[in-house]
Amino acid sequence: MKNKKILIIEDEQDIVRLLTHYLQKEGYNLRTASDGISGLQLARKDIPHLIILDLMLPEMEGLEICKRIRTDPKTSALPIIMLTAKGEESDKIIGLELGADDYVTKPFSPKELVARVKALLRRNERKDEEPPSYIYGPLELNLESHDVKIDGKEVHLRAKEFDLLVQLLKNKGRVLTREVLLDIVWGYDSDVTTRTVDVHVRRLREKIPFLIDAIVTVKSYGYKLRVEEN
Ligand code: CA
Repeated sequence: MKNKKILIIEDEQDIVRLLTHYLQKEGYNLRTASDGISGLQLARKDIPHLIILDLMLPEMEGLEICKRIRTDPKTSALPIIMLTAKGEESDKIIGLELGADDYVTKPFSPKELVARVKALLRRNERKDEEPPSYIYGPLELNLESHDVKIDGKEVHLRAKEFDLLVQLLKNKGRVLTREVLLDIVWGYDSDVTTRTVDVHVRRLREKIPFLIDAIVTVKSYGYKLRVEEN
């Protein structure tokens, strides 16, 4: 989270001060602009990691800024949180949904906004980090199409088997405990037991025989995917 740049485009100085205070406390670097045109210029000159954009602004409206940011390939993927005042939202929501990733209605709680900023940045980070596919020996797994192939031949996996295999690939060479796998793949409030992990590993090995050796069982602990030998 550290060193992430956030640009606030907002003409109400009280809100700018409030947001600056709360976001700086979280370690973010802030840039601010109090009108639409300078905000857009700043967004292009010094591309931030996220923009908090007011809807009603002097010089250029938030919606127009949003559109221009989205159509510029340099800034098109930038996460945007829109700020709207009560009463403005009804006829603007459709427009907002076209360009902004999230929106918050004034008056808002700063803590809530900070939480949304974090969530949006996290979501974006994950998008950047994850490669679209994994190749491991004869296995190829595509995260976008959800295809799994062995030597080019498709293998059908159930959703949890797929998710489990992704975790093993992502953490190649590292032991993952059954508890950790349960948390990541099935979720915290799931009532399945660690035994479920074993069942799914067994199914993966049945469907993809080369995983019998590739997935190592670490006794009374968990599993790991062997690092390929070259
Ligand atoms: Ca305003």
